[in-house]
Amino acid sequence: MSNRIVIVTGASRGIGAAIARRLSADGYDLALVARNADALAGVAASLPGAGRHLVLPGDVSSYEAVETVVGRVQQELGPVYGLVNNAGITRDGLLVRMSDAAWREVLDVNLTGTFYFTKAVTASMMRQKIGRIVNITSVIGLTGNAGQANYAASKAAVIAFTKSVARELGGRAITCNAVAPGFIETDMTAGLPDAVRAGMLGDIPLKRFGQGEDVAGAVAFLLSQDAAYITGQTLVVDGGMVT
Ligand code: NAD
Repeated sequence: MSNRIVIVTGASRGIGAAIARRLSADGYDLALVARNADALAGVAASLPGAGRHLVLPGDVSSYEAVETVVGRVQQELGPVYGLVNNAGITRDGLLVRMSDAAWREVLDVNLTGTFYFTKAVTASMMRQKIGRIVNITSVIGLTGNAGQANYAASKAAVIAFTKSVARELGGRAITCNAVAPGFIETDMTAGLPDAVRAGMLGDIPLKRFGQGEDVAGAVAFLLSQDAAYITGQTLVVDGGMVT
């Protein structure tokens, strides 16, 4: 596994930090990206593996920032093998009250950020004739959700983007898949009222909320050689909630 370099966006906490720790344990070299430099450095310090890592603060919704980050990864670590587009935000609200800013911000980070990073690594992956792209979507992108029209639209679009990239890059042995988490216990979901949490738990056949590590396992599989013949898929990691 030495010299397999993977970029993880949104790695400063939650699911992204769990993915970083799992991939470090699996022996990858890592480039960790998020907006909060201090939190990123904390995650980097906790990595269990002996691989190299870079901490790269940056905003995924700025193409200039994304190009700079990918350029530094290639210069300081080497050609990128894997990309995990995990950075994401919510700006929830009912449609009638949803501001233009809340709509755009969510689409800019969740969808356009995924496009920017994927575009920035593609040429190099095509030259290497190998690559793994894993996009973190959500079960909300499959089901929709009241109060999350912006988030649901962004995550559904990520699934369609994933399928298109899989078709476009498959000829170069580059796979592109999505992972759709259900309810995962992170800062993103910490603010939900107890009544809402209890209701959701009742809908989960495995009778527990997911952890970042549950998602990280699916990502590690899709990055591995075992998943070399899987592309364009969305792997749902939700304890059975939406099946
Ligand atoms: P989180 O809020 O705990 O972490 C989000 C991460 O994204 C942070 O590292 C943050 O710095 C980074 N980020 C946000 N905007 C960014 C930007 N513009 N540029 C760079 N980095 C940025 O969220 P989480 O729960 O860990 O979610 C991670 C991903 O999983 C998101 O895409 C989210 O939509 C998805 N997801 C989460 C759940 C859940 O239940 N937590 C469920 C389904 C999908």
